[in-house]
Amino acid sequence: MFNSLSDRLTATFKNLRGKGRLTEADVDATVREIRRALLDADVAVPVVREFAARIRERALGAEVAAALNPSQQIVKIVNEELVEILGGETRRIRLAKTGPTIIMLAGLQGAGKTTLAGKLAKWLKAQGHSPILVACDLQRPNAVTQLQIVGQRAGVSVFAPHPGTTSEHDVPTGDPVAVARAGVEEARQKLHDVVIVDTAGRLGVDAEMMDQARRIRQAIIPNEVLFVIDSMIGQDAVNTAVAFDEGVNFTGVVLSKLDGDARGGAALSVASVTGKPVMFASTGENLDDFELFHPDRMASRILDMGDVLTLIEQAEKAWDKEEAARMAKKFADQEDFTLDDFLAQMQQIRNMGSMKKMLMMMPGAQNIRQQLEQFDEREIDRVEAIVRSMTPHERVAPKIINGSRRARIARGSGVHVSEVNGLLERFAQAQKMMKKLAQGGGMPGMPGMPG
Ligand code: GDP
Repeated sequence: MFNSLSDRLTATFKNLRGKGRLTEADVDATVREIRRALLDADVAVPVVREFAARIRERALGAEVAAALNPSQQIVKIVNEELVEILGGETRRIRLAKTGPTIIMLAGLQGAGKTTLAGKLAKWLKAQGHSPILVACDLQRPNAVTQLQIVGQRAGVSVFAPHPGTTSEHDVPTGDPVAVARAGVEEARQKLHDVVIVDTAGRLGVDAEMMDQARRIRQAIIPNEVLFVIDSMIGQDAVNTAVAFDEGVNFTGVVLSKLDGDARGGAALSVASVTGKPVMFASTGENLDDFELFHPDRMASRILDMGDVLTLIEQAEKAWDKEEAARMAKKFADQEDFTLDDFLAQMQQIRNMGSMKKMLMMMPGAQNIRQQLEQFDEREIDRVEAIVRSMTPHERVAPKIINGSRRARIARGSGVHVSEVNGLLERFAQAQKMMKKLAQGGGMPGMPGMPG
């Protein structure tokens, strides 16, 4: 799923990593790479153009300049914009307030409509609904039978006209509008709370098919019209989507065959071009290969970034701006970094939540899983206890902490002297790093992480 796009974007961000500041040239190079990756993935040209412009504008703006880590901030921006082109918030099915909820499916032949009807029915059934499928694809010889088989697999009823001139419901078998209407009536009578209407598709968009779909829509007034699109059809996706949007004014998009190894980017354009949300993803031939589409999670998957977003958000939330400003001023004034500062930073880190959980959200965390499992949260408590056992003078002038003071501090905080030594060593390293940062004019990082 979007593998090559994902690889390309990740590689682009890798080039940025470790850069303390981003120049306009860095930003331009990055945006160029992103644009190429999207175009190569078949994302529609106007969508790419707008996307790239938004990224560039934001990347050169204040939010990146003020960021603790500019390259991470860029990833965050790309992620947010990606969520936006994928439709923003997760959009669930709108259920009817009275009577059955009517869902109509539209799309080209082979898009995956009939399969989707079964998937949707099974999914809804698992949630306690009692869906019925209605076969209105009367063009393709096998379509009705295929829907019946799918219904059987999903364990739901199927309403279909019998072959011949009229059905058992006296519905002319050749008239999909009448079948749709009768199907909805059947649902009312048999108390099905959801009706899923499968319609005919053609290999290409044609006026007759669109007219038929439009007439079905007018006859049954569905709560949702889902446009099913094969994710593998490339740049044609956008034209097809626009045609269907004009023809049946669909309310949501289903991306099918997302399991394929295709570039898939065209599918990414559909929500953006039509302004209609992607609601479901179909990811295989089995009825269970189906999921509610979450733009945010899909974006994370494409960017292969773990749950870094939550991580950054939590860090932002926990980051005490006043404390950060106080620290920044200290550096500007080249004041000494003290053990009190060290402790304050430690507490800021702790405010973000469980260290282990936070670290597990890092991309690449899987590689260091074992070390993370062994991480001891109480380490921060011990550091705090040790610093608190020092006198105020010791905290600002740690050089005076000799052997007997160390023994006293260890006794006071209930740790072994070696732990006091270890902390002082880490502090000395942090202090050195801070001095370097201050001279370089950078923002303070988070030194002295235990472990
Ligand atoms: P329809 O003509 O729009 O009703 O499309 P169908 O439901 O008949 O699907 C066309 C073909 O695509 C069938 O062979 C399905 O098994 C296959 N198909 C449908 N959805 C998916 C999917 O999500 N992934 C894959 N790999 N194949 C699918």
